[in-house]
Amino acid sequence: MEFDKELDKELQFKTSKNVPVVATFEQMNLKDDLLRGIYGYGFEAPSAIQSRAIMQIISGRDTIAQAQSGTGKTATFSVGMLEVIDEKKLDTQALVLSPTRELAVQIQDVIKALGDYMNIQCHACVGGKAVGDDLKKLSKGQHIVSGTPGRVLDMIKRRNLNTRNIKVLVLDEADELLSKGFHEQIYDVYRYLPPGTQVVVVSATLPKDVLSMTNKFMTDPVKILVKRDEITLEGIKQFFVQVEKEDWKFDTLCDLYDSLTITQAVIFCNTKKKVDWLSESLRKANFTVVAMHGDMKQDERDKIMNEFRLGNSRVLISTDVWARGIDVQQVSLVINYDLPSDRENYIHRIGRSGRFGRKGVAINFVTKDDTQMLHDIEQYYSTQIEEMPVSLNDIL
Ligand code: ADP
Repeated sequence: MEFDKELDKELQFKTSKNVPVVATFEQMNLKDDLLRGIYGYGFEAPSAIQSRAIMQIISGRDTIAQAQSGTGKTATFSVGMLEVIDEKKLDTQALVLSPTRELAVQIQDVIKALGDYMNIQCHACVGGKAVGDDLKKLSKGQHIVSGTPGRVLDMIKRRNLNTRNIKVLVLDEADELLSKGFHEQIYDVYRYLPPGTQVVVVSATLPKDVLSMTNKFMTDPVKILVKRDEITLEGIKQFFVQVEKEDWKFDTLCDLYDSLTITQAVIFCNTKKKVDWLSESLRKANFTVVAMHGDMKQDERDKIMNEFRLGNSRVLISTDVWARGIDVQQVSLVINYDLPSDRENYIHRIGRSGRFGRKGVAINFVTKDDTQMLHDIEQYYSTQIEEMPVSLNDIL
């Protein structure tokens, strides 16, 4: 079985021995202003990954941290960076790279919020925005830069982003950054950093080929894994609706629409074209929806995300561009209009609705052709996806 083999490969990644677990934020001996920021942000105790990884990052060791979406990884490296930054020196000391613009901006928001009582400048350096803004912000000096690889590399090459004092590089969603089209850019950025720069690799999933790539730029990293078992799809009720044919999905969705608007829902399709088609068709049928995908201009994407975060729009249709790491607390219902073509994305899509014990519901539209894939997903995550009951409102 191909899946078993892959599962095996992943399991070769184990937590290093003797990684201490620090049970409270006080015990981390953080700067007072940072501790205030953490409590001010509403955190009381560190999550599993935080209680293990924050101190390792602060110690300066290269660190690989793997834990599922929504377990507090962003706050892990944000706290780590904020602690090691020298506020008095206004030069770039930490760089975070992420695969999407939304993530980079969201990380900036978290850093700013946690660093609220500190004197910290943090800039989001992302594609799709005017370069002029980057130049202005960077020339003023930024302690931390959170960006996407292309734009960051551009800024470094133009010498607008000075890398001389960078102490730590964080790769968020590293499996994405080190696969596909990104890894060349990551190596390029890395080459501009001072020798001995600490590297922190963070991801929900770390396939073996990605893991082996980290050898090229990490030295004896400490590995921290919060296991799949501890971070399951627990608390999320998963259902499928058998639709026989693709054509039937639309009517099924229309029937569900009233339930969707009780809270907030995200509907995932596999292609940009489908997102456009579905949102248009729903609007024609007088339903209110917003849509987002990677072909849209950045300011448009920002606007849609903001409206959705604020709750002004209730139903968002998206491709997987949205699925990774973006945190919208109130989403309790996710619909896979299409099953994800990559099974890793299943948890990225669904996982968000169950963050920090929040309950959620996921509904998968399944045609005859999808039956095998649904089965594979169930097996891969050792989970159960049941047929959706007629009275959906009872479970929402
Ligand atoms: P990840 O990066 O692993 O996807 P995040 O860092 O975005 O996870 O955290 C997910 C959610 O949990 C966010 O809303 C975040 O504010 C919240 N969170 C993170 N750490 C804690 C904590 N220690 N206590 C309470 N909530 C937390």
